[in-house]
Amino acid sequence: MFRVAARTNILRGASTRSFLSSRFASTLALIETNAEGKLEPSCLNLLDAAKQLNNPIVALFVGSKAAIGAQDLQDSVKCEGLSKILVAKDSSLDHYLPENVSPLLADLLKDEEYTHFVVSSSSVGKNILPRLGALIDNQPVCDVIKILGPTKFIRPIYAGNALATIECPQTKKLLSIRASAFPAVETGKLEGAEVAEVPFTLKDALPIEWVSANLTKTSRPELGSAKVIVTGGRAFKDKESFEKYMVPLADSLNAAIGATRAAVDNGLCDNSLQIGQTGKIVAPSLYIAVGVSGAVQHLAGMKDSGTIVAINNDPDAPIFKNADYGLEGDLFEIVPQLTEKINAAKA
Ligand SMILES: Cc1cc2nc3c(=O)[nH]c(=O)nc-3n(C[C@H](O)[C@H](O)[C@H](O)COP(=O)(O)OP(=O)(O)OC[C@H]3O[C@@H](n4cnc5c(N)ncnc54)[C@H](O)[C@@H]3O)c2cc1C
Repeated sequence: MFRVAARTNILRGASTRSFLSSRFASTLALIETNAEGKLEPSCLNLLDAAKQLNNPIVALFVGSKAAIGAQDLQDSVKCEGLSKILVAKDSSLDHYLPENVSPLLADLLKDEEYTHFVVSSSSVGKNILPRLGALIDNQPVCDVIKILGPTKFIRPIYAGNALATIECPQTKKLLSIRASAFPAVETGKLEGAEVAEVPFTLKDALPIEWVSANLTKTSRPELGSAKVIVTGGRAFKDKESFEKYMVPLADSLNAAIGATRAAVDNGLCDNSLQIGQTGKIVAPSLYIAVGVSGAVQHLAGMKDSGTIVAINNDPDAPIFKNADYGLEGDLFEIVPQLTEKINAAKA
């Protein structure tokens, strides 16, 4: 076992600096909820980003379960500056269909008070933001990972190999926020936020219809919010060995399981597990990469993790350059030993 030099991680330690903002500025935050109407974990990070804009925050819930989300927010989140909650209960807004939600947002943003609109960089945010940008003729700034001021933001480009600092002079700043780059706001009770209903009737509806959702069910922590992730790569030759070694390791740490694209493409696991440029972006406290080479497209999805451990039999594997701890050797020997030691330490 060897210790790899500590990584320089320029994204860590987001500044909590406050900024002077216009007297009338306000941030509208679209808060995502799950099928039961409860808050998605990423909204805690979204609200932290909204706080860093240093404006009063107005949280917006949409769809027939909007009131459940609003109540969940009041019961479970502490967010200084969140002064108002809007609920738009129309069922045409269910499932966040961008063709229906964007006209509502465009309407709300006509109010001069709103200088910023924020949404998570989730599939919902990625669907809605371009359409909203087109409707109000504004260029969105996507995948924001750092807020330098009310008009200055940092976002990754070239699959995370470079960072662009964007100065956005538009009157409305439309931002999608990469949840893994911001801490979560505190949990607790939200005090003093006024709740108001937003009347909405869809005009000129496009011929768009929600057909169904096909979701992978798992009892493991969700990849996007897991504190610990163990990821398997192509080194596992088949699905059986992937499961035989990865599942006990994940169980020992109560971890989510991730995979590289090569592992997914080779049929070792479901594609919902893919992490990277074309998969999920994650930043758990602990990331264990097992038989993963460390291609740039994979690193783009996990390099902001707290502590990275790599297990690989190739001492020159690029993953070691990004790892805090490296275990050089055969994963088929190391993983069972590691799993056993973790279980023994817990007993
Ligand atoms: C446009 C584009 C988008 C992409 N998006 C993604 C993405 O989102 N996510 C992603 O992961 N990839 C993505 N890729 C693919 C990426 O380039 C790599 O091909 C992929 O990440 C490699 O996966 P891997 O590390 O599992 O496999 P490999 O590169 O084959 O690495 C396997 C590693 O396992 C090690 N190994 C083998 N046997 C053992 C053993 N017994 N014990 C220990 N170690 C062992 C090897 O030394 C090697 O380092 C993308 C590529 C392109 C072009």
